[in-house]
This record gives sequence, C-alpha cells and structure tokens, in this order.
Amino acid sequence: MNKREFLKSAILFFPASGVLAALAREAVGGEAPPKGYNPAAHLYGMGIQVDKCIGCNRCAVACKAENNVPQEPFYFRTWVERYTIARRGVVAVENISLGPPKETTLDAREVVRTFFVPKLCNHCANPPCVQVCPVHATFTTQDGAVIVDAERCIGCRYCIQACPYGARYLHPTTRTADKCTFCYHRVVKGLQPACVEVCPTQARIFGDLKSNASRLMRFQRLNKIHVLKPQLNTEPKVYYADLDGEVR
Ligand code: SF4
Ligand code: SF4
Repeated sequence: MNKREFLKSAILFFPASGVLAALAREAVGGEAPPKGYNPAAHLYGMGIQVDKCIGCNRCAVACKAENNVPQEPFYFRTWVERYTIARRGVVAVENISLGPPKETTLDAREVVRTFFVPKLCNHCANPPCVQVCPVHATFTTQDGAVIVDAERCIGCRYCIQACPYGARYLHPTTRTADKCTFCYHRVVKGLQPACVEVCPTQARIFGDLKSNASRLMRFQRLNKIHVLKPQLNTEPKVYYADLDGEVR
C-alpha cells in the first residue's frame, strides 16, 4: 500500500499548525523562499480590469507553460470567458481558452454587448476548498495564497467539488488537485505572475494588499470593485473593475 492509498483508507486529520512553513517551502518548488522574505509582511491579491481584456488568451497560454499545466484544452489554472448579453435577459457564456471562439448562435440583432472575463482561483480568505480537505493538503500561506501540497494530496476531489468557482482540476498525471498559486514561486522572488507579465493590455494587476503604494491598492482606490459570488462569503482576493452585473 503506497502513501496515497494508506491516507485514502485512513482519512487522517493532520494538525495544520506548525506545518505551514514546510508546506510553503514545497509550494516554491522545494526551495526555501529567498533569504529575508517575510510572508507575514505581505498579503497578495489580483485586480482585473474587465474593460481592458481583449480576449487574446495569452494569459492562459503563459500560465500553462509556466506551471506545467497539461496542454489538453480542458485543463486550466486560469482561463477567459466571453459573455454575450442579448435582449430579454439572455446571457451566453463561452470559455474561449478551449479554442477559437465559436460564432454565437444568438441573433446578432438581439446582442446588446459582449465582453471578456478572465478567471482563476480567487485565493479566498474564507476558502471552502481548505475547509473540506481531509488531509490538510490544501492550505493558505501567511501571505494569502491558497496552495495545494501535491505530496500530501490524496486526489479525493473534495476540494474540486467544494470550489464554487470551478478553479480546480485533477491533474491527469499526478492524480492530485491542481490550481492557480498566483505563481507563488515567482512572487516570493519579487516577480509578477506569468499571466500578469504577458497581458498586453495590463488587464491583470498583481500586488500586495498590505502596501498602500502597490499597484493593486491604487487599482482598488481608483475603481469600483466587485468580487465573484460575494453572497457566498468566500471573501475572494481577485478584484474586478468594470464587472457587468450579469457576471456576479
Ligand atoms: Fe485579457 Fe490580458 Fe488575458 Fe489577453 S492576456 S485575455 S487581454 S487578461
Ligand atoms: Fe479555493 Fe476555489 Fe476559493 Fe480558489 S476560488 S481559494 S480553489 S474555493
């Protein structure tokens, strides 16, 4: 019986405290975070300016390359949805990261507007995925990233079902839950997440909620901000500006 089979049969409950630092080390690829890095001094989040997104999908492609996400079109850590709003309250949503956008079946004369909404894990401050994990494989770092420890994950899929944003998938090779990490291995070194770095219109903004001078805090000050599904009290740390009421 291997480690994963043993854990599946036993469904152990690990005490979370005291192991987070070790798990955070694993999240940065087994390396210790850079010397002098203090996770307690940061709290990361992302801003998305919906009006700036042109649906080029570069973010999803860059994320796959950076994070070894399987190339098959239905595995994503981040993706882009096209919303088409028509008269009489008709809303069509299409994941354009699955391939070239298809022609909408809606009558063009009925379409009121279309726009793109990039999506990813919201790194919720109150994350249901963390609450349901029976082996504490998914956890929140001190600096606010929700991370999966693939060594500990038993692939039970509870977290995938618990996430109300569809932000997780089961990796077909490792058979463990996978999702966006905010490119944690990059941000602890002072770099931007890959999706933010490649976005040609700067529709994505990454920053530190503990720094008033950060781009993210400025973005929050200058825009009316919404989060996805606020009624669920998951307290997302991905903040949207110019978000249409049909999306929330
Ligand atoms: Fe939108 Fe930027 Fe992603 Fe292109 S790279 S789809 S503009 S968020
Ligand atoms: Fe967990 Fe889903 Fe929230 Fe990400 S968006 S922290 S996977 S509940």
